[in-house]
Amino acid sequence: MYLSELKTGENGIIVKVVGQRSFRKRLIEMGFIPGKRVTAILNAPLKDPIEYEILGYRLSLRRSEASLIEVVGEEEAKQNMLMEVGEATGAYDDEGDEIAALNLRMAELADKSRRTIRCALVGNPNCGKTSLFNMASGAHEHVGNYSGVTVDAKEGHFSYKGYDFIFVDLPGTYSLSAYSPEELYVRKNLVEHTPDIVINVVDASNIERNLYLTTQLIDMNLRMVMALNMFDELRSRGDKIDLKQLGYLLGMPVCPTVSRDGEGISEMLDTVIRRYEHFGNDEFARHIHIPHGTELELSISRIRSLIRKNPDIINRYSTRYLAIKALEGDKDIDRVLRGLSNYGEIAQAVSQEDERITGLLKNNAESSIVDAKYAFIQGALKEVYVPHIDKAPRRTVTDRIDAVVTNKWMAFPIFILLLYLVFHTTFAVGQYPMDWIDALVSKFGELVGNIMQPGWIRDVVVDGVIAGVGSVLVFLPNILILYFFLSLMEDSGYMARAAFIVDRLMHKLGLHGKSFIPMVMGFGCNVPAIMATRAIESPKSRLITIAILPFMSCAGRLPIFVLLAGAFFPKHAGLALLGIYLLGILLAILSALILKRFIKDDNLPFVMELPPYRVPTSKAIWRHTWEKGKQYLQKMATTILIGSVIIWGLGYFPRSDKGQAYQQEHSYIGQVGKAIEPAFEPLGFSWKEDIGLITGVVAKELVVSSLGVMYAGDEAAADVSLETGAPAVSEAPVDSSGADGDETALQAALLRNISLPAAVAFMIFVLLYFPCIATFVAIKNETGKWSWAIAICAYTIILAWVVAFIGFHLTSLLM
Ligand code: GDP
Ligand code: MG
Repeated sequence: MYLSELKTGENGIIVKVVGQRSFRKRLIEMGFIPGKRVTAILNAPLKDPIEYEILGYRLSLRRSEASLIEVVGEEEAKQNMLMEVGEATGAYDDEGDEIAALNLRMAELADKSRRTIRCALVGNPNCGKTSLFNMASGAHEHVGNYSGVTVDAKEGHFSYKGYDFIFVDLPGTYSLSAYSPEELYVRKNLVEHTPDIVINVVDASNIERNLYLTTQLIDMNLRMVMALNMFDELRSRGDKIDLKQLGYLLGMPVCPTVSRDGEGISEMLDTVIRRYEHFGNDEFARHIHIPHGTELELSISRIRSLIRKNPDIINRYSTRYLAIKALEGDKDIDRVLRGLSNYGEIAQAVSQEDERITGLLKNNAESSIVDAKYAFIQGALKEVYVPHIDKAPRRTVTDRIDAVVTNKWMAFPIFILLLYLVFHTTFAVGQYPMDWIDALVSKFGELVGNIMQPGWIRDVVVDGVIAGVGSVLVFLPNILILYFFLSLMEDSGYMARAAFIVDRLMHKLGLHGKSFIPMVMGFGCNVPAIMATRAIESPKSRLITIAILPFMSCAGRLPIFVLLAGAFFPKHAGLALLGIYLLGILLAILSALILKRFIKDDNLPFVMELPPYRVPTSKAIWRHTWEKGKQYLQKMATTILIGSVIIWGLGYFPRSDKGQAYQQEHSYIGQVGKAIEPAFEPLGFSWKEDIGLITGVVAKELVVSSLGVMYAGDEAAADVSLETGAPAVSEAPVDSSGADGDETALQAALLRNISLPAAVAFMIFVLLYFPCIATFVAIKNETGKWSWAIAICAYTIILAWVVAFIGFHLTSLLM
């Protein structure tokens, strides 16, 4: 019986708590531990919550919660004694004896109930459930047949190692949709009879198809053990499967069985007992989610949070399961949801999300969910399952493409070639719109400059606002083109393969194959890259990825490297550039290895989903590209606008009329530069470089333009800037071809003023130090903590100083 049935004043002994994992955990923490005594203090028919006393203190539970706690009550024990002895309890002369006997009987019954494990056998038709059922139960107790609504379920009892097992052989189903009576029956049974353990019987000779049902069971968040049946057939074919890894990926123990002759069944029962006795997670069973991809996950979490407003439903059902089923348009679940107070809101969200998904993925939510599940299965199998011979016939297009792009020898070269093409095209094609925007911005600046009255207001608009926003705008085409290609790779299904290829490598760094995509994006701009880490499910991997992303040299840093490499390594500029990028990657790897030791493991699954290849829809591509572009504009434009104006102001005031160079040196920014000069002297920088670094805190793009202004006074580098005397943003970003008059002048000035080791140290410092304000804000938003953002940025600054120092001295030695 259940706790909710205990009458006022009646005692009971707790047998077990059923329902969702989080609910069980919470109740056990409250003291509802098997074997403990509980008393109903006040349980009136219409009263909710009910009041109880347990372990000497009182608490109340909602009726719906109490109905998930199995107990043995006094009445039940009395009945039991009556049945057995066949006479009234009056057999005891002493009342105390009677109570003692009753208590003893209650404890015995509770213990017996607790040692009863109810298992439901769930699997596809013909996977060997009935054979397993007969093998396990047949030799012991009776096997009874009883009818369900329209379909049959057999129930069998037997004991094993001191436990009473109840096996329920449910009808075979391919899925848990509400389409056939069998499917509905199985679902109803799983929810209403709450088996202690679900034994998912899987036909090993047809594993991919069978695992589909498994993924749906995982959504339901049940305690499961997998019987990988027909294992004899898999063995005789010579296929190889890594059972431990499969269990790890699926979050449940996997037991090989041959139910025709009983092989592996007692080991499976041992596993069931272990699983039953562990309430929380243990070494071989973790709580996992099947990831359904960014878009579907957004829909799921929206609907889920609406469902979660109903406290009574969350203890019995997994709300994630309800949300997924609702999105699939499941009629039966719709009936469940109809009972909720906010049904209208939920139904509206469901239809909106279905529409959104249909628009984006060209498939409705239901079939997109099926696709996502198969992608998960494909990824898991690719990792753990090696068929003996290639199943050459019946190859799909996806199989054929995969045979090439994930081939042992060709995977990496193809991958690198594609990346090269993407980056090359991005910069080559991006150059044109970049130049146009550049020209437009300076024309616009001139125009506004001519219209407005001379004075500081004109200067702040032209040199602060227009030039500052302009310096962000010029990079927009690059960003859009890069993300266009990345979306193309992602939506076609190739990115999943790329992630798969590097997955093993990434694991060594405490990362995940999915970390790779944001890292590639990081070469464009760190801000959207940090946002893209949302696709990584493991918090640990995600945090490490975010922490090392700033070392991926973004496009904003490129002009500085082009400038300095061109000046100081005229013959080997390309090589120097490559070296800088590689240094960033190397330090990212080292940092990941260090961080890996300090961040707690979260044991999340490492399945790389492998969706089928698809021609992406233009709508999805456009939306993904534009979304990224918008993020870039929003984050960058706001911070850069404010930052540019501040930096402009710091260079503009206090005013003097002794010329541009004097103005700079004595402006606020000049004073700050001079103040921090001693900190950077060991790296060979003068206060002019230091000012460049300060402006780079706002955006790395600003470093070159402020250096241009700093050295404008230098003889050969005259007339670099407009006559305003404002540092920083008045320069258009340097053309990456690096061959115009302006840059060579600046380069010449740099060559005269700083040494080669200092130039090397400067490049290293710019590569590594504080990413930029927009990235800083993105880190804070994505990790949810200022402390992480501050820690990561402090780390980058210290590392930058140390490595630049080493670089400075190494170069000095080599010269
Ligand atoms: P159910 O539909 O899931 O209940 O499956 P059954 O128990 O009726 O089994 C279907 C068929 O598979 C029967 O012919 C069984 O003899 C056979 N079978 C069951 N388990 C195994 C096994 O482990 N290995 C092999 N080779 N055949 C099995
Ligand atoms: Mg059967």
